[in-house]
Amino acid sequence: MTAERFDAIVLGAGMPGSASAAQLTLRGLRVALVDRRAPGDETSFGNAGYIDTAAFLPTTMPRDLPTLLARLRGDTPHVHVQFTMLPFLMGWFLRYWRESSPERILAAAARLAPLASHATQAHLDLAAEAGVPHLIGANGLLRCYRTREGFDGGAGDRDLLRRYGIEVGELDGAGIAGLESALRPTLRFATFMPNTRHTSDPGALTKAYAALVSRGGGRLVAADATLLAREASGWRLETQTGPISAPHVVVALGPWAKDLLARFGISVPIAVKRGYHMHYALSGNATITRPVNDVEGGFGLNPMAMGVRLTTGAEFADRDAPPTTTQLEACERLAREIAPIDRRLDATPWKGARPNTPDSAPIIGPAPGQPGMWLAVGHGHWGMGLGAVTGRLVADLVTGAAPFIDPGPLGISRFS
Ligand SMILES: Cc1cc2nc3c(=O)[nH]c(=O)nc-3n(C[C@H](O)[C@H](O)[C@H](O)COP(=O)(O)OP(=O)(O)OC[C@H]3O[C@@H](n4cnc5c(N)ncnc54)[C@H](O)[C@@H]3O)c2cc1C
Repeated sequence: MTAERFDAIVLGAGMPGSASAAQLTLRGLRVALVDRRAPGDETSFGNAGYIDTAAFLPTTMPRDLPTLLARLRGDTPHVHVQFTMLPFLMGWFLRYWRESSPERILAAAARLAPLASHATQAHLDLAAEAGVPHLIGANGLLRCYRTREGFDGGAGDRDLLRRYGIEVGELDGAGIAGLESALRPTLRFATFMPNTRHTSDPGALTKAYAALVSRGGGRLVAADATLLAREASGWRLETQTGPISAPHVVVALGPWAKDLLARFGISVPIAVKRGYHMHYALSGNATITRPVNDVEGGFGLNPMAMGVRLTTGAEFADRDAPPTTTQLEACERLAREIAPIDRRLDATPWKGARPNTPDSAPIIGPAPGQPGMWLAVGHGHWGMGLGAVTGRLVADLVTGAAPFIDPGPLGISRFS
């Protein structure tokens, strides 16, 4: 059967994939955006919604033994480890440990900062193009601390952010109350980043970018991406509505990217950090108007279209294993200490899976040994914020335009 011809096939309609497909469409390409579900219904649906030019600070593994052991034991809800996964994760953990040294943290920040510095503008431009600028708010981000020791422990991060020109304020309890009167005095200090943006509906923002593809003459296509095959003129995919083909394919399958790439002999060092969310009503007339991160509690409270969204830290578990309740329940107890949390609004917690590289930067660039295949994977904790700018870089690479930043440091060869 003759395949329907496109200029590019984008596999995966999460935020990085949808934004890549949208940016390619805006450059005049006819794009097939492929997913087995609707756009933005997986990890890109349930995150905390930060859109942040500060999204270059790597997440790290504690290198002092007491903190590391406390995290592994689950003494705080930052991390939950499914111990049966340890043999499978050991190699990745060793790389993560290596990337968590002070020198490597600086190197990781330098690697990602050029991309992150364009992240907010890329979203504002794309949201305007998609007709949804109202989905991105501009109230800043509060990273709050319960103790002086915790706040002092964040000094290194604040210095690093300032070194890259990020505006960072320091608040005491009164300053926090001045911005968010519903928060309890349990939170005594905060780092305030006034220029961080926030989307009140990450799933809707992703869908709006995906809709640009059909508006530009392309198509959203339902298919199983693992059926991708190479052919003489590029790539071919069997879909529910017949075969499609294109000279370029962009792999943006998030936590599922490894499954497909292994078939083409490409190994990506991606481990899954699962996370949960639940929406809550607040008591009485209380409101939270900007994302609030309880750094020592290990969770976030984020004002969303659906209610106040509590988001959890990292759960190292099998990607496809049933959800657990430990982390969310612990975070919920702690959230009641900082805000007037009332009732749950969802029947069950949402679960997602962050696709993490050891150095916290995504892998964007050509796939080794596979001409015409491009990678946009491994966005970890930052795929919502970095999604639009990832699309911009992918569009430069696929169309052969001069890239707006040097893409070399983000390529997969850094792991070889
Ligand atoms: C609790 C939590 C909070 C977070 N908070 C933030 C935040 O505040 N800011 C931020 O920037 N990031 C945040 N993130 C991270 C962000 O959500 C992810 O980095 C991002 O969503 C990853 O996008 P993705 O497209 O790579 O993956 P996904 O959104 O999961 O998309 C992958 C897509 O591939 C499709 N797919 C998979 N396999 C196949 C197949 N075989 N065939 C067809 N389609 C397939 C899936 O259906 C899916 O639509 C958070 C994550 C979590 C879990």
